[in-house]
Amino acid sequence: MQTIRRTESVNDVYTIGEELGRGSFSIVYRATHKTTGKDWAVKIVDKDKLGPKKMEMVDTEIEILSKLTNSHIIRLSEVYDDEKNCYMIMELVTGGELFDKIVELQSYSEKDASKLIEQLIEAVEDLHKNKIVHRDLKPENLLLSSNDADADIKLADFGLSTFVEEHTKLKKAVGTPGYIAPEILQTLDEILDGYGKEVDMWSVGVILYILLCGFPPFYAEDDDESFDQIISGVFEYPEPYWNNVSHEAKDLINHLLVVDAKKRYSATQALQHPWIKDNNHVKPLEG
Ligand code: ADP
Ligand code: MG
Repeated sequence: MQTIRRTESVNDVYTIGEELGRGSFSIVYRATHKTTGKDWAVKIVDKDKLGPKKMEMVDTEIEILSKLTNSHIIRLSEVYDDEKNCYMIMELVTGGELFDKIVELQSYSEKDASKLIEQLIEAVEDLHKNKIVHRDLKPENLLLSSNDADADIKLADFGLSTFVEEHTKLKKAVGTPGYIAPEILQTLDEILDGYGKEVDMWSVGVILYILLCGFPPFYAEDDDESFDQIISGVFEYPEPYWNNVSHEAKDLINHLLVVDAKKRYSATQALQHPWIKDNNHVKPLEG
């Protein structure tokens, strides 16, 4: 599916419906195509509020999403523009954010977590092969395709993503505190001179940890303290929450939450880990 830049007014083509969610830069609504009747999601970005510098990032988001065709990445189909806003017409997913699902279930069974994480890592592997780094992987940006128990993950929100060449380093300090990789913080502190795509796999480690116990590995009252924890890379598996979690699951986390980005598992390595690779012969939980 090729992303198409439209010149018509979005309101002539779609009926904008209820709000589906919002982030720091946008509001997402249901949008029904007036002639086909098909429902989509429209991400509306207020250009004035964003300013020209951040609008450049929206252009990058559009360029990146248009390139990607992975089934675990939200598809972008059309882009509309007017004086005030930019409108991104995307594939609609109806299962909500993984974030809300974690709150509802408190934590996932290992079998379900393994399946979701595998899909996430497949999406990340595809990004990295395309020289794209997401930089904002977190449960709010992982959407579920439906409300079914076996719903698929769809990676969304490429608002902070960018292109990165193999040997170049990124310097911009972006991300979300609980999920940010140590090398981004060390770049900010001028201890390192930049970071690369490995930052996404750190966030995958944080997401996996949260999926299995319902709380984050690095947490403190204020950001500075949690940043110190992240840079030190010290975290625990407190009892009783982790008593029944398998050794394999912890082993995978131990290979992802590694401060030295060079030693951290890549997406391709993580997909080969037994906890991911051998998840198929366990019968899925019912309901
Ligand atoms: P921001 O860049 O402002 O964070 P997101 O792209 O993350 O915007 O979208 C904000 C929220 O809107 C998401 O967390 C999700 O709840 C909802 N949303 C985004 N895309 C879709 C979609 N394609 N289908 C359904 N809901 C979506
Ligand atoms: Mg978001």
